[in-house]
Order: sequence, then C-alpha cells, then structure tokens
Amino acid sequence: MTEKAGQLTVKCPQCGKPVYWTGEFPHKPFCCERCKLIDLGAWAAEENTIPGEEIAADNDNSGYYQ
Ligand SMILES: [Zn+2]
Repeated sequence: MTEKAGQLTVKCPQCGKPVYWTGEFPHKPFCCERCKLIDLGAWAAEENTIPGEEIAADNDNSGYYQ
C-alpha cells in the first residue's frame, strides 16, 4: 500500500530533519536510531539530575523546539 497524498511528515526532535511518518522510519519521530538514542540519553541525564539543582540548559537547548 502506497502513501503519497497527504503523507504526514514531522521534524526529528533531535536534529530537525524531516521524517516521513511511514514504515521507512522505524525510529520516528526521530530520523534515525542515533537521534533517538541521543534523546533518550538526554532524558536519562535529566532524570539523574537532582531537582532544584541549577541547570544552565538554555544554550544547550537552542534549536531543540524549532
Ligand atoms: Zn534526527
């Protein structure tokens, strides 16, 4: 079954590359396994930080939510 018209695309939350919402991208919404692992690693790092601890994340997050 082909999906051409109205094909859903999203941006990779990690690098911003367009990701087609098809079986061709098993790691969606990430474009690749690398980006997925990077994001999971970021999550793990955040979970390991102590709440209330000052985190200078503004610079590191530039472009993340674009
Ligand atoms: Zn990516």
